[in-house]
Amino acid sequence: MSIPAAGVSEVPAAREVTRELLRLHARILLRMPVFQLLLIGGFAWFLLPHVAGSDFAVWAAFALCAELLRAAAAGFALSRLPAQSAGKLRGIHVAFVVLDGLAGLSIGLVAVLFLPRAPLLAQMLLETVLFAIAAAGACVALSSRYIVAAYSSTVLLCAGASWARLHPSQAEVVTTLTFVYWVFLLGIARDAEQLLVRSIAIRRERDAAYRDLQSKNDELERLNEQLRLLMAERSRMLAATSHDLRQPLQALSLYSAVLAARPGPQALDKVGRNIEYIVQSVGDLLDNLIDLARLSTGSYALQMQAFRLDSLVHRSCEAFAQGIAAKGLQLHCRIGEPILLHGDPTAVSRVLRNLLDNALKYTREGSITVTLERRDALALMSVEDTGAGIDARQQARIFDEFYRIESGDSAQAGGVGLGLSIVKRLCEALQAELHVCSTPGQGSCFCVSWPRACVVSDAGHAHAGDAAAPRPDGKLRIYAVDDDPVVVSSLTQLLQLWGYEVRTAADADGVEALFGQWGAPQLLVSDLDLGAGLDGLALAAELRARHGEFPLLLVCGDLSDTVQERARAHGAALLRKPVSAFRLRRQIERMLWSQPR
Ligand code: ADP
Repeated sequence: MSIPAAGVSEVPAAREVTRELLRLHARILLRMPVFQLLLIGGFAWFLLPHVAGSDFAVWAAFALCAELLRAAAAGFALSRLPAQSAGKLRGIHVAFVVLDGLAGLSIGLVAVLFLPRAPLLAQMLLETVLFAIAAAGACVALSSRYIVAAYSSTVLLCAGASWARLHPSQAEVVTTLTFVYWVFLLGIARDAEQLLVRSIAIRRERDAAYRDLQSKNDELERLNEQLRLLMAERSRMLAATSHDLRQPLQALSLYSAVLAARPGPQALDKVGRNIEYIVQSVGDLLDNLIDLARLSTGSYALQMQAFRLDSLVHRSCEAFAQGIAAKGLQLHCRIGEPILLHGDPTAVSRVLRNLLDNALKYTREGSITVTLERRDALALMSVEDTGAGIDARQQARIFDEFYRIESGDSAQAGGVGLGLSIVKRLCEALQAELHVCSTPGQGSCFCVSWPRACVVSDAGHAHAGDAAAPRPDGKLRIYAVDDDPVVVSSLTQLLQLWGYEVRTAADADGVEALFGQWGAPQLLVSDLDLGAGLDGLALAAELRARHGEFPLLLVCGDLSDTVQERARAHGAALLRKPVSAFRLRRQIERMLWSQPR
C-alpha cells in the first residue's frame, strides 16, 4: 500500500482502496499471535538445550507481547476504519509500519541473544528460519511494501549482523547476500502491492458498474411500466373515443333514414334537435381531445382579457337550461353582483361547461345550482348537484386523465374521463383554485375560486360582446364560401331557414363575382382551406382591400395557435368544425347584432 500523497488522498476512490488494503492487513494481524506462539515453541525446541530458560522466557514474553500489541492495534483499527478520513487512514498505516518493525525486531532479537550460545547446527537452523520468516512477513504484509520493509529489515538486520559478528570471515558475503535478499523481497512486495491495489480497484469498478447498471435497469423498468400504463391508457382512450364517435355516427345514420322517409313536422322537429345535440357532443369530444393535447404540451395559449364573469355564467346557464329541463331537473342560477375578471373567457366558459355537463350527466333527479358570488376579494363560482355523488377515495382520482368511475350511474353516462382533467389543468393555467366536496347519494359541489389578483375592481366596465344589441330589421346578406359542396349546401339551407339571404361560392372567382354583383355582405362565412392553395383569411384580406370592411367568420378544422393568431390579426371570429347549429347561430347573431349600422 503506497501512503497516499496529500493530493491523491482527497480522491475518494484512492481513499477507499487504502481503506480496503488496511482492512486486509488488519485481519491477517488478528491471527498472528497464534503463529507467534508456534514460532516460540519451535525456537524453544532447538534452543532450550543450549540457552538459559529464564533468558528464553523473557525473550518469548517480549515477542508475544509485541505480537499481541499488533493484533490489538489491528482490532482497534478494524472497528474504526469505516469512518476514518484520508489523514486518519494515513496515521493507521504509519502505526502499522511502526508496529510491524517492532514485531520484526522481537523475532530478530532471537538471533542477537541466542545465536552466540548455540552450536553451529542450531545456528544454521535459526538463521534459515529467520530468513524464511522475513519472506513470510512479505506474504503477511502484501498490502504494503512499507510494512514489508519495516518487518523484513529488522529481522534480516538482526540475523545477518549476528552471523557476521560470529563468523567475521563470511561477513562480506553474508552482508551482500542479505542485502540482495532484502531488495528482492521488497521487489516482490511492491509487485504484490500493485497487483492487490489493481484488483481492488477493478473490483470496485465492477461493483460501481454493477450498481450503475442496476439503477439504470430500475429506471428502465420504471419507464417501461410508465410506458405500459400509457399504452394501456391510450388503448383505453382510443377504444372509448372510438365508441363515443361510433355512437353518434350510428344515431346520425339512423336519423338520416328517418329523414329520408319524410316524417311529419313534429317528428322532423325532434329529429332536428337530436341531430344538433349529436353534432354538439361530437364537437365537444374532439374539442376535449385537442385541448388536452395542448394543455399536456403546454401549448394552450390563453387569451387574457378583462371580461364580465357574471355574463359568462348567465350565458352558460342559458345554454344548458334546455338540456337540464329536458331531464326533468331544476336549474337554479344564483348570480350576485357583477364581477369583472381578468382571464381567458373561452377557458373559463370551458371549465363551467364541463362542470355543468357532468352535473347534468350524473344527476337523475333534483336540481343543479350554479352560484357566482364575491366573498371579500375572491370570486367564487360553483356548480352543485343532487346527483350520484363521489366516493371520498375517488375524489382525488377523478381529475386524472381518462379516469372514470366505472360503477353505478357513472358507468351508464357517456364520457371518456377527460372533462375534469381539462377543468383541473385549465384552472391551474387560469390561477384559479378548484375544490370538490361530495357525499355519495346526496350530490357534489365543484367550486372554482379566483384570487384578488384576477378580480378587476371596475365591474361597470362591461365587455362589448356582453351588451345585447337590438336585432336589425330587414334581410341580412351572408356569403358562404367553402370548396366542399355538401357543407355549402347544408349551410345555405340552415342560414335561409334562419331568415338570412345567402349567396355561395366555392372558390376565389366565385366570391369575386358575388362582391362584383352584390357588393360587400353583412357577414362572410368561410372555410380556411379552400383547396388549390387558397386560404380563406388571405382571400378575405384581398376582398377587404378592394371592397371595404366586412365581418368574417372562419369555420375550420385547424385551430392551431398559428391559425388563432392569424384570425385575430385579421379581426375574424373562429369556430371549430364540427360546429353545432346552436353555436353557429349564436356566433352569427352576436356578430351581426353588434355591428354598427
Ligand atoms: P367523464 O365525465 O367524461 O367520465 P370526467 O373527467 O368529467 O370524465 O369525470 C370523471 C369521473 O368523475 C366521471 O366518470 C364520474 O364518475 C365522476 N364525476 C364527475 N363529475 C361528477 C358529478 N357531478 N357527480 C358525480 N360524479 C361525477
